[in-house]
Amino acid sequence: MDLSRFPKAELAHLPTPLEKLERLSKHLEGPGIFAKRDDCTGLAIGGNKTRKLEYAIGDALAKGADTIVTAGPLQSNHTRQSAAACNKLGLRCDIVLSTSADWHEPCHELTSNQLLLDILGTNLHYVETEWDRPATMEKVAEQLRQQGFSPYILPAGASNAAGSLGYAQCAEELLEQAEAQDLTIDRIILPTGSGGTQGGLIAGLVAMEKNIEVIGIDVDAAPEMVYEWTLDCAQGAGKLLGVDVNPGFVRIVQGYAGPAYGVPTAEMTEALRLSARLEGLVLDPVYSGKAMAGLIDLVKRGEIRKDENIVFIHTGGTPALFAYQTALLSKVRM
Ligand SMILES: *Cc1c(COP(=O)(O)O)cnc(C)c1O
Repeated sequence: MDLSRFPKAELAHLPTPLEKLERLSKHLEGPGIFAKRDDCTGLAIGGNKTRKLEYAIGDALAKGADTIVTAGPLQSNHTRQSAAACNKLGLRCDIVLSTSADWHEPCHELTSNQLLLDILGTNLHYVETEWDRPATMEKVAEQLRQQGFSPYILPAGASNAAGSLGYAQCAEELLEQAEAQDLTIDRIILPTGSGGTQGGLIAGLVAMEKNIEVIGIDVDAAPEMVYEWTLDCAQGAGKLLGVDVNPGFVRIVQGYAGPAYGVPTAEMTEALRLSARLEGLVLDPVYSGKAMAGLIDLVKRGEIRKDENIVFIHTGGTPALFAYQTALLSKVRM
């Protein structure tokens, strides 16, 4: 797989570590569990969006853009990393934020990713729901054009075909690390929302002719939509790489999102505490905590066998923890 022909902005600290979760593997009496630490990509507290932004912004710059217009919910990790990437590269950044949320905590609008967006100093445009975001991005872009800017509209999550290439590259990096560690990877498991991370991994594996199953845990409580988005990203990135992605390669597992995106579940809290207490590994409540709850359950149900080696992609999201204090604190001190 030759990724060097695609334009790229250098943003991430790579390679991210691949480490065995010895104590968690032992505790579950199941497969070998390894963590790919994409929470450590470095840019403004890191996370999975940074790899996607390298290729998505590379594409934007190649098309002559000087402004990125993108979107997300209030506690979006994507908008934080986009704002940071634009600052680092000297680009203007306009962000459309949807304010409605299914989970309410004190300070949800002031802390964590909201505080970081404020510090990063981005141009913010507020709308009510996620369905208002695409049209508003178009409107903002049109206004920017009239002011003489050249905007590039980047969909939420940086999940377009170019952005997904960041995870084709991650697949390549992961296989190199596995080879150096003499490790055979049987499956990869991760949280999936807008689909670019899983789609990019799948496209990369197909391009390298590696038959490793990628399991996406739906965190949106909308598995059909997540499947469509992921398939789009896998096929979009696949097309850029010159390979066809069979729809059967996209596997989305439901049942771990709870009632809605961003709403904590008891299984998530348990998985988050277990990872922290056995491994010192801090997950997040919206994505990686729910994906780890899924991994643990699939192991307990025997769907993932004891003789396998599993790679869990830790996609980041760490700052969002601090917007979930009442959900996560075991003792609330008054
Ligand atoms: C955005 C995000 C995801 C989901 O990645 P997609 O590419 O949108 O599917 C997972 N984990 C974290 C922490 C995220 O911020």
